[in-house]
Amino acid sequence: MTGRRTVIIGAGVVGAALADELSARGWSDITVVDQGDLPATGGSSSHAPGLVFQASGSKALTEMARYTVEKFLSLEHEGESCFLQVGGLEVATSPERVAELHRRHGWLTSFGIESRIVDTDQSVALHPLLDRDRVLAGLHIPTDGLAKALGAVEAQIELAKGRGVKFLARHEVLDIKAEDGQVVAVVTDHGEIPADVVVCCAGIWGPKVAALAGMNLPLTPLGHQLAWTAPVPALEGQTEEAVRPILRHQDADLYYRDRYDTLGIGYYGHRPMPVDANDLLSVDEAEVMPSVLSFTDEDFEPAWEETQSLLPSTLDTKIEEGINGIFSFTPDGMPLLGESPDLKGFWVAEAVWVTHSAGVGRAMAEWLADGHSSSFDLHECDVNRFEDFQKAPDYVLERDCQNFVEVYDILHPLQPMESPRGLRTSPFNARQQELGGFFLEATGWERPQWYDANAALLEKYDVPEPNAWAARYWSPIVGAEARATREGVAMYDMTALKRLTITGPGATAFLQRLTTGNIAKSVGSVTYTLLLDVDGGIRSDVTVARLGEHHYQVGANGALDTDWFGRHLPTDGSVQVTDITGGTCCIGLWGPLAREVVQPIADSDLSNDGLKYFRAKRLHIGNVPVTAWRLSYVGELGWELYTTADLGLRLWDTLWEAGQEHGIIAAGRGAFNSLRLEKGYRSFGTDMTFEHDPYQAGVGFAVRLDKGDFLGRDAVLERKESVTKTLACLTIDDAAGTVLGKEPVFVDGRPAGYVTSAAYGYTIGKGIAYAWLPAEVAEVGRQVEIGYFDRRVPATVTAEPLFDPQMTRLRG
Ligand SMILES: Cc1cc2nc3c(=O)[nH]c(=O)nc-3n(C[C@H](O)[C@H](O)[C@H](O)COP(=O)(O)OP(=O)(O)OC[C@H]3O[C@@H](n4cnc5c(N)ncnc54)[C@H](O)[C@@H]3O)c2cc1C
Repeated sequence: MTGRRTVIIGAGVVGAALADELSARGWSDITVVDQGDLPATGGSSSHAPGLVFQASGSKALTEMARYTVEKFLSLEHEGESCFLQVGGLEVATSPERVAELHRRHGWLTSFGIESRIVDTDQSVALHPLLDRDRVLAGLHIPTDGLAKALGAVEAQIELAKGRGVKFLARHEVLDIKAEDGQVVAVVTDHGEIPADVVVCCAGIWGPKVAALAGMNLPLTPLGHQLAWTAPVPALEGQTEEAVRPILRHQDADLYYRDRYDTLGIGYYGHRPMPVDANDLLSVDEAEVMPSVLSFTDEDFEPAWEETQSLLPSTLDTKIEEGINGIFSFTPDGMPLLGESPDLKGFWVAEAVWVTHSAGVGRAMAEWLADGHSSSFDLHECDVNRFEDFQKAPDYVLERDCQNFVEVYDILHPLQPMESPRGLRTSPFNARQQELGGFFLEATGWERPQWYDANAALLEKYDVPEPNAWAARYWSPIVGAEARATREGVAMYDMTALKRLTITGPGATAFLQRLTTGNIAKSVGSVTYTLLLDVDGGIRSDVTVARLGEHHYQVGANGALDTDWFGRHLPTDGSVQVTDITGGTCCIGLWGPLAREVVQPIADSDLSNDGLKYFRAKRLHIGNVPVTAWRLSYVGELGWELYTTADLGLRLWDTLWEAGQEHGIIAAGRGAFNSLRLEKGYRSFGTDMTFEHDPYQAGVGFAVRLDKGDFLGRDAVLERKESVTKTLACLTIDDAAGTVLGKEPVFVDGRPAGYVTSAAYGYTIGKGIAYAWLPAEVAEVGRQVEIGYFDRRVPATVTAEPLFDPQMTRLRG
């Protein structure tokens, strides 16, 4: 017998996929329980119309969708394939949507799925019901199609049963039993099932089931309208279930599929209809099924009117039936996968569409069996990515409803959430507002992108205008702030970066084990280092300052880092990890004049000898006790100055006042990002993620193979010898060619990779784009093209860093 005793809760399309994938990996003691009948349990999979559109801005979701397509194509149910590969067509009825289709075509190209932009005639040829006068263009994805969701559930159940998996219908889970922080059993209305691993695949019931294990799932079930027409005369005689591509009309929040001579119509344009998971009816109480609410005709009226305009042949038919079907939404629109932080052995695979279900099944099976997924990068899907405030019921409800509203909207990569705003503000917020900060939002933090108060700098600096899309959430002031930082001195609010302390007698050994660097240096040392997974993939990059013998401060990337540290803590209590982000703040004081500003008001020597590069020490600046770290992500002389939140405003004012005679400015994230890319500093989550190793990502310098064992060492040692892809630095000569990220890169006219971070480099006078490319084509000087909307932007692979490769400014 292999694997642990495993109970999967829920036999929908996710639970069935997981049972199949896990048993295929040799796990033999698996029980799947469902409160409903099998295979039509009454959950969302029981009525899903099964449209699989693979296009997404998320690489992981795109790859999961592709896997689902491939798997369902290979599955049969009652002699028929579980996937009807009729293709997908997304149409545009507005010029903005035409541009958006080009952007989506770019994503598909980046992530390896064939698609093409088609004109009006081609769109109508693909889907003859379309009104030629309404359609401006289309995006055709030949491999999209219709998943036969229930068929796929049944086929996967059969496969799993063949490997000995038990399926128990009409078993409702009432409780999860735990001992010493470990799951031990699942309690059902028919008794207890012992378990070492429990995976909650309970769909819209997820929050209710997870709560049994003490877990707060940020998920809201929401009603979504799906209607079916009576026969459409133009489809008379259609004997195949579907022949036309599945159709998306995102300008009006609509999608369509054929079903013989009728049409299915899905609508996201109506008011959000949230449902509390605890209020869902039981299988026996529900009129149709628990995941279905009654159709509300009045909500569907605009959809029907628009349908009759886009597909005029529907004027000759009517709506025959409809449902307000319920499925799951999350605060960022991504699935919730992973293990509870508090209860070992309790896992969730929640908020998953049919589209991604087989991919999620595979990802979860790999994660459970091997400790990580080797097929998909799950950093955007990990259930532990949220901060505590993002699990507040009001936040979850508001964000989930908003994600329903925006599901088909055109969203700019920098577009902040509209609401709730003002959740997390640094102590400098009042000053930032006085300076006319233009605020964007990140993990709840209000962060100035630039300051209107710096407009006068435009008299000094000539800042080129990017193209219209790149010019959103942008001002020429961004460029002026970047230039002024390189020439003078600027204050950057770095408060939003996560800060942890790692303390206790075991802290040094713990960090030596979890990081790739040697952090066991003298007190005052600062180390840029990496956290790796067992397969050598990058979990995060962190900066570790040794502030005392058993006291480290870690500059981290987010909640996943806290979770990672927490999971690896020794059980003897010798190490404590504390999140100090909220109670502290940080100003990056950077630029060639930084020392002139701070030295006169500091009670300690900040000369080159007084505090060397990558060293930290405590001192006072005016009345404020600070810890100064001598480093800079913008590549200029200066310090990150940390203090407690109560003294933050005083620190700002003190520096501001001292800086006046040196022309100090406050500068925003726009300038920061540009300066960072000029220096080639990678950003975790964008430039490098779980799927990349340090040598591919160009951060191999942070791996100290000679320091002894650490997590991931064996794997990186092996991966070091076979670097087949690399994060390359591209420059773009034309300012108007500025790109924003996720665009495909073409080498010799063929798709070869995709852009990660991009910005205009105001000092070097060129656009910058980092991109993943096959190692063999990424040689310096290589001409490539970046697909940007309907254009190809010429770019050149360039040696990095683009600015100050000798590091004279940082060490100055
Ligand atoms: C109208 C509508 C249209 C949709 N269209 C599409 C589409 O075109 N394409 C697409 O990709 N997705 C679509 N979706 C979304 C998709 O249907 C769902 O995301 C997907 O089916 C969820 O699968 P699941 O296995 O997570 O959940 P479910 O299928 O709901 O399975 C969860 C299972 O858990 C069981 N369960 C819950 N609590 C307990 C308990 N306490 N004890 C025992 N068992 C329990 C339930 O009975 C249920 O069987 C649509 C959804 C709706 C509502």
